[in-house]
Amino acid sequence: MPTALHERVRAALKQHLPQVRQVALEIHARPELRYEEFYASQHLADHLAAVGLPVEKPFGGLETAFCAKMGNSAGPRVAILAEYDALPEIGHACGHNLIATAALGAGLALASIRAELPGEIWIMGTPAEEGGGGKIKLIEAGAFQGLDAAMMFHPFDQHLLGLDSLAMHVLQVDFKGQPSHAAAAPWDGKSALTGVIQTFNLVDAARVHFRDGTRVHGIITNGGQAVNIIPETASARFSVRARTATYLDEVVMPQVMRCAQAAALATGTEVTLTIEKGYKNVVNNWTLARRFGQYLQAQDAPFLESDPDSGIGSTDMGDVSQVVPSIHPYLGICAKGESLCHQHSFARLAGSEPGLDTMALAAESLALTALDVLLDGDLRAAAKAEFEAQRA
Ligand SMILES: [Zn+2]
Repeated sequence: MPTALHERVRAALKQHLPQVRQVALEIHARPELRYEEFYASQHLADHLAAVGLPVEKPFGGLETAFCAKMGNSAGPRVAILAEYDALPEIGHACGHNLIATAALGAGLALASIRAELPGEIWIMGTPAEEGGGGKIKLIEAGAFQGLDAAMMFHPFDQHLLGLDSLAMHVLQVDFKGQPSHAAAAPWDGKSALTGVIQTFNLVDAARVHFRDGTRVHGIITNGGQAVNIIPETASARFSVRARTATYLDEVVMPQVMRCAQAAALATGTEVTLTIEKGYKNVVNNWTLARRFGQYLQAQDAPFLESDPDSGIGSTDMGDVSQVVPSIHPYLGICAKGESLCHQHSFARLAGSEPGLDTMALAAESLALTALDVLLDGDLRAAAKAEFEAQRA
């Protein structure tokens, strides 16, 4: 239902796009790790403040989070989310600079009609998606209360309205053994490193029993102190993921923990297991996602609803999607199979012309979908009904 308001949002976005594209490149050139996104968060907040929007920063108790609100606080409310953290060594290889500026572009475009908005739009800066769980801290701070919808997009290798994501925890595994001279008196030692290695072996043996979609992958973060000492301490870190939070908590985590405990028993060492609570699986709101799809179609961008064969990861948007009707569509910044998140080539694409074009496509679709949530009571009601049914 295109209205004059939709046309004005489109026109305003067009006007702001050269500047928004520039911001995407500037953030791309200065990758910052989780909770250290000082440049990106301030840069985005400054651009929102420059069109007269009040920006709360810090927000929800996080220094690199922010929230710019516009419109009528008596009406319905939608949040468009920005992410902007990067990865160690490989920079913006998840393309969060594009997520950030799609939200910025949508915010600047919607600000042009803020006096006529029948509800409220929030442009929320959410730090530390890459392992920091910024959105979980914001949920705990109450930042998502009172929202009718939350939305963002994520760069990918094809256009999809939604994709499953995996529930995830991180398991920290710390072995303590007994040091001894590795040549002169190895019989007096108990190797913490052997405990770690046997944990990996047992996890590999357990894989065959896990349901499809389960992922357990780890690295050794401490492999010992010196080659001539039987390692007194050794540590590993595992990402443990499954299709649902329930299967993860009730089956996979206990199994992986038993592997570490069995390794400790076999090696005569002690093991300490620390669970770092991770992300829940994404519950896609297809009512809202299909509306987003209509605005892709309007820009001549063909898409699929989903792709069961596509590789999936985890995101703290999963947690948001379990408290607010949410969408997390994926939009391609390259041809299918050409590159994927967390690869060097994806970092290059996140700073490329095709990447910026996709960001613009996302900005317009997000802005118009958010506007519809405020204008269209039927859409809001259908999204809410779907959300309640999924929760039940
Ligand atoms: Zn990402």
